[in-house]
Parts: sequence; structure tokens; C-alpha cells
Amino acid sequence: MSKASSKIIAINAGSSSLKWQLYNMPEEIVLAKGMVERIGLPNAIFTIKRAKGEKFERIVDVSTHELAVQMFLDELISLNIISAYEEIKGVGHRVVAGGEFFKNSVVIDEIVLKKIADLIELAPLHNPANIQGIKAFQKILPKIISVAVFDTAFHTTMSTENYLYPLPKKYYEKYGARKYGAHGTSHFYVTQKSAELLGESVDKLKLITCHIGNGASITAVRYGVSIDTSMGFTPLAGVMMGTRTGDIDPSLIPFLMEKTGINSVQEIIDIFNKKSGLLGVSGISSDMRDIIVACKEGNKDAILAFTMYINRIKKYIGQYLALLNGVDAIIFTAGIGENSDIVRSKILEGMDWFGLEIDESKNFPGAEGIISTLSSKVKILVIPTDEELVIARAVEKLKKK
Ligand code: ADP
Repeated sequence: MSKASSKIIAINAGSSSLKWQLYNMPEEIVLAKGMVERIGLPNAIFTIKRAKGEKFERIVDVSTHELAVQMFLDELISLNIISAYEEIKGVGHRVVAGGEFFKNSVVIDEIVLKKIADLIELAPLHNPANIQGIKAFQKILPKIISVAVFDTAFHTTMSTENYLYPLPKKYYEKYGARKYGAHGTSHFYVTQKSAELLGESVDKLKLITCHIGNGASITAVRYGVSIDTSMGFTPLAGVMMGTRTGDIDPSLIPFLMEKTGINSVQEIIDIFNKKSGLLGVSGISSDMRDIIVACKEGNKDAILAFTMYINRIKKYIGQYLALLNGVDAIIFTAGIGENSDIVRSKILEGMDWFGLEIDESKNFPGAEGIISTLSSKVKILVIPTDEELVIARAVEKLKKK
């Protein structure tokens, strides 16, 4: 390990969870990673995994994010992964909503923290949790550099005609009602990585990046920057997801309220967010693995859910092929995009007219890299995403400044 190397932590804090990954930078070596789930609930689950192998899991009581941080730092010491807290030289936090304000990663100070709090209305579930993670580290490791990496930052390059909704313009001007997108860190990572894999400079490439996990979004990337993305004002928009509707006619809100007797808009939005998508249509599960099993067993609702899911992704790819006037590559990433050869194959089925030809001999579970035929006009790639690495890199970069 070179003398200049230092330990940096990437944090992804949710309302009741805290995921972390410890790196040696600039070598980009993962030393350990882990998670604390069910913070504030009985029987929190604490897991830690060393870079090479062993995974430990315990059921503990963790009432706050601060205790969760303390706990995993202590565990790093008792496992001899670090010898003292002081060895950690920087921390990077994933922050979901950066609005129009944060176009890049920034060093967190009181002004930044206040601004993240001001943006809570754009991500009411996520930003407060992100702030808790930031504050926990500020208390425990007050002297180290702390950096915020925003999920929306990569999409701040979208042009006005792509981010604006066709609403009276004053709602944008007064209240910031516009498309912000999400999963930017992942779309950014796979954009960079695909240029590397294709041996081409990123500013020469037109790409469609498909982040398909529980949440899913599709992005049109021209010459290294996002020009449009499927998620909207919130991550409810775009393609159909595990439990989210994706794009839907908003007139359904009053209609369903009247028919069902549900008298709260928030309750309807909760149904759109948490009970719809694969889960809602299939009535079985939000998990693509369960849906695929049920499809194989001939379950009609599962087949319908699967077909709708595929179609909606196809349609977004179609939009972006048109917007970009063709592309050099289509990239699949995240839980489903990385792991499901079946989903990839079905999305691209019947798209050879666009110059998209998947090579089924390269498209298997666990496949990585180029999975298109040699003659395919458009390359098709599978790239495991790595948002934590983007966060660690941001800390490393800002630490140097
Ligand atoms: P999140 O958005 O919560 O980060 P992930 O990116 O981890 O989600 O993706 C979770 C999704 O990936 C689940 O729907 C899961 O079923 C799916 N998935 C994981 N492995 C496979 C697989 N081998 N085949 C199909 N789907 C898979």
C-alpha cells in the first residue's frame, strides 16, 4: 500500500438502514462492507463482510444512525481492519435529491447541509435519512472531509425542453416543478465504464443506459452527459417497476379516489409507489425472480406483468433511439439488468430493425461486457454498477483540492 493511500467510507443511509463500504484510495480497493438494517426497530440486523470472504451477522439493538456508525466502526477495529477511528480520512454520502442547485459533488459544510434540508420536499423519504447519516459522521468523526454525492447531479445537464413538464410555466418558475431524474450516480458510472470497455472517448458516444433494479430508470446519454431520463419530479415516473407504476395518467387520482372511497391523495400515491408495478399486476411479488418462476409455471397475471414491464422499457428505449438519432451502445445494469439474461433478451427481442442484435451465446446469467453479435450495429453491454466507488472517488478528488 502506498504511503499516500487513505481509507475512505462511502455511505448510503436510508430511513431505517445504513449501508457502508470502506475503501483504500486511490487504489480503489474494497476493505470491507456492511449494512445495519431496521435501525430504530426491535432486532436490528448488523452485517459486515471483509473484502475476502467472511461475513458476520448479528441481531442487535440500534436505536439511531449515530449508534449504527459507532457500531460498525468499532467492529472494524475489533476485526483489525482499521486500528483506530483516525485512520479514516474521508466519508462520502449518497444524497438523493440535489435539485437544480447541486450539479456536482460537494464538500459538506453547514450551508450545504441546510440546502440539502431545504430540498426535502423533492425527496421526503430520502433526504432526511441522508441528513441523519451525515450528522452521525459529523458527531463521531468531526474532523474528516465529508462529501455529498447527489443522485440527481448527472441529470442536471438535461435541456429545458426535456426537463420541463407541459404545465403553465409559472409552476416551474415559482415552485421548481420539473423533471429531476434519479439513479444519476449509476448512470454516470456505467457511462464512463462503457467508454472504457468500448475503447472510445466518452464524448464521442451516444448511449442508452438502463438501470433496472427494484427501482428502474432509462437515460439518454449524449457525449458523456444525460440529455433525458425516464424518472421525473420524483422516482415514481418512467418505466414500470417492482412496486411503482411508472408513467400514469394523473386523472386516475381523482377517479380512483371517488371509486374506492380513499379520501387522501397521499394514500393513492402510496398505492402507486408501493403496491403497483410487478407486484400490483401479478398479485404475486415485486421481485423479478418470483415473477419469472411464476411465468414459467404459466401464471397468467405474472406473464401479463412481465410483458407490460418489458414493453414499457422497450418504449423508453425507442424514444431515446429517436431522440439521439441512433446510439452506439445500450447498457444494462442494476439487479435485474445485471442478472437477468431473460429480461435483457426479451427487451431486445424484435428490435433488429434498429441494428440491435443480442448474441444469446454471450447472454447468460453472470455475463458481463459486450453481449451483442459482431454484426450488431449497436453494441449491447452488461455493466455491474458501482455507486459506492463513484462516491469514494468523489471524496478522493475533493480531498486533494
Ligand atoms: P434496488 O433498486 O433495491 O437497489 P437491485 O438493483 O438490487 O434493487 O435489484 C433488485 C431486483 O433485481 C429484484 O427485482 C430482483 O428480483 C432482481 N434480480 C436479482 N437477481 C436476479 C436474477 N438472477 N434474475 C432476475 N432478477 C434478478
